[in-house]
Amino acid sequence: MHVAVPKEIKNHEYRVALTPAGARELLEHDHEVSVQAGAGEGAGFDDADYRAAGARIEGDVDALWQNAGLILKVKEPQPEEVARLTPEHTLFTYLHLAAEETLTRGLMQSGATCIAYETVIDGRGGLPLLAPMSVVAGRMAVQAGAHSLEKAQGGAGVLLPGVPGVAPANVSVIGGGVVGESAARMAWGLGANVRILDTSLARLTELDNRYQGAISTVYATTEALDRAVRESDLIVGAVLLPGAAAPKLISRAMLADMQPGSVLVDVAIDQGGCFETSRPTTHAEPIYVVDGIVHYCVANMPGAVARTSAQALTNATLPFVLALADKGWKQALADDPHFLPGLNVHKGQVTYQAVAEAFGLEL
Ligand code: NAD
Repeated sequence: MHVAVPKEIKNHEYRVALTPAGARELLEHDHEVSVQAGAGEGAGFDDADYRAAGARIEGDVDALWQNAGLILKVKEPQPEEVARLTPEHTLFTYLHLAAEETLTRGLMQSGATCIAYETVIDGRGGLPLLAPMSVVAGRMAVQAGAHSLEKAQGGAGVLLPGVPGVAPANVSVIGGGVVGESAARMAWGLGANVRILDTSLARLTELDNRYQGAISTVYATTEALDRAVRESDLIVGAVLLPGAAAPKLISRAMLADMQPGSVLVDVAIDQGGCFETSRPTTHAEPIYVVDGIVHYCVANMPGAVARTSAQALTNATLPFVLALADKGWKQALADDPHFLPGLNVHKGQVTYQAVAEAFGLEL
């Protein structure tokens, strides 16, 4: 199989879909690997590292796409990339289609086979290709939130851990999954007062057992959300309905109940966001203020720590990449019931239920 790794072109996306170590594994399975010149630079891997692993460096982006059977990317294809896709391509990347109708229709028109990292599952119902980036985003959410609480960012001027004689800040994390737990752990580690709200009692039990009460667990009723809004200096939004748009859990009206300068970090923004006032931002301009509340809504948070993220991503995707390259998409998906839900678009049809429902399309 000829595997191609384009350079990411989304604003401030520095990750690369395959590290040189990953390229070497594919080459050992007798596949051909072409990496676009400079693709790994943002993540600290230069062309020489890929050459040393045995990959070919391709300077001609048209040739890179035209010669490839399997295309490995990080972010959803941008319009000029969608235009390069053909029915001969298998695309393996993050897609997050439920909030992106234009992209969904573009991929349908391309005729390509499009497999999304974020809808591949594991034996315990988890999302193994979302998890590593969720850990990164969760840990970053608290860094970003702490910075946003500073006066210069429009924040209330609050230091998360407080100091001796001054109480620590209150942090609420809505959604106690992979992002939420990582955020809560960071905030707790920094000395904040932390609560996690979730609608899954099983998950709250797991978290309570793990943190032995050091992090409060709260069932996410409307009343509990109201209280979190009134009492928190920092709220991290980390809910997920797999493959579907995020529910809006904090309305604009509720912002009036927050202390001015409090901060909302909406990690779920890549699924449309879980606060009514959220809109996607970039690392270049990550925050904005609505009704006195600072919002941080960067849709590709892990891109800012590209080296850590690229390595974590390749570690997770590599077994699936090898299966696709070794067997072809049809056999690889047929052989693995956990890989099969990754298929989102094939030959002009949406094949993932939540995406079809989001846009009233037939499966
Ligand atoms: P996850 O499935 O591990 O956790 C989601 C949690 O939300 C679950 O525990 C679930 O019970 C809970 N939940 C669902 N509905 C809820 C509700 N109404 N109230 C409270 N809790 C609710 O998912 P995850 O990996 O932690 O991802 C969370 C979100 O972060 C996703 O939208 C994901 O796409 C996003 N994400 C964003 C970035 C970024 O750069 N912005 C990076 C990684 C992940």
